[in-house]
Amino acid sequence: MTKKNIRLPLSVFALTFLLLAIVQIKVERPMILAERFFEGAGWVEIFIISLYGAVVAYKMQDPQNVPQWRKITWTIFSVIFFTQLAIGLSGFEKFLMTGKLHLPIPMMIVGGPLYRGQLSVMTILFLSTVILTGPAWCSHLCYFGAFDNLASSGKTSMEILKHKGVIKSTILILVIAMALLLRWFNVPLLIATLIALAFGITGIGIMILFSLKRKKMVHCVMYCPVGTIVNGLKYVNPFRMYIDQSCTLCMHCTKFCKYDALNAEDIRKGKPSITCTLCGDCLAGCQHNSLKYRFFSMNPERARDLYLILTISLHASCISLARI
Ligand code: SF4
Ligand code: SF4
Ligand code: SF4
Repeated sequence: MTKKNIRLPLSVFALTFLLLAIVQIKVERPMILAERFFEGAGWVEIFIISLYGAVVAYKMQDPQNVPQWRKITWTIFSVIFFTQLAIGLSGFEKFLMTGKLHLPIPMMIVGGPLYRGQLSVMTILFLSTVILTGPAWCSHLCYFGAFDNLASSGKTSMEILKHKGVIKSTILILVIAMALLLRWFNVPLLIATLIALAFGITGIGIMILFSLKRKKMVHCVMYCPVGTIVNGLKYVNPFRMYIDQSCTLCMHCTKFCKYDALNAEDIRKGKPSITCTLCGDCLAGCQHNSLKYRFFSMNPERARDLYLILTISLHASCISLARI
């Protein structure tokens, strides 16, 4: 077990509190849910959410806890997100962000702006998280990916599929082409929405048919166009993961990676493949401590701590703010 230090949870508490306090003070319309019901209650919610972030950080600083705690916290995030959406849709508009609904499918982050010809709030939020935390959107922050994470519970060293790069790039290109065509041909919003809905339902089918059986996040790694964009855009952020010289090529970590980023070839090359989301699950699978976070020349333990501080604070803040 890793020796716990209190600085990490304290830092997460402070950063989460700061981020949410800025929103509470600066944004005119109350964004913190409790504030919409009782004046001043937003501050109580901010305190509780910051405390939640601190507890998660305390637990996740031990790499052995990461796979289980990431699954629990990511699921909590999605359940809160979709519960608020359901309550909002049933008539309680305070549970919605703007009241103007769009489909809660990650594909809309790409397809929506292309179809409408303008950026959406969700797209801007998404891009901001990529700049701040690289690929953490796909390991802690996406309301949809948590279900693929749940579906892929269990462990296997089986590779998802060969040629995954070609398949996922093709799907991304098709989604972009489809959104542009719908716009150029002025296809009505209702039909465009039904097409997006069919895409989302197909994604759920992929989770049920493939992720469950293969114990890997087949939906996120092979199908979701936003995941493909994250794979490419994440390099704007300096955090990386690598495998150091102590690696014995035992391949034990392969079973812990749901993103299919630690196959034999990747391990031999000394770094996870492009589908790595820096989730940290694989650290629990390496007895030699060979998998390391990198942030410029910072020592790997500190780089990991910094990554946890940023990612968990953002995750906790999003629990309070993410709604449609
Ligand atoms: S790949 Fe898509 S569904 Fe999966 S976590 Fe990323 S954005 Fe969400
Ligand atoms: S990184 Fe660790 S678990 Fe993975 S192959 Fe190397 S020694 Fe084995
Ligand atoms: S290589 Fe490790 S950090 Fe990267 S996605 Fe796989 S389990 Fe997560």
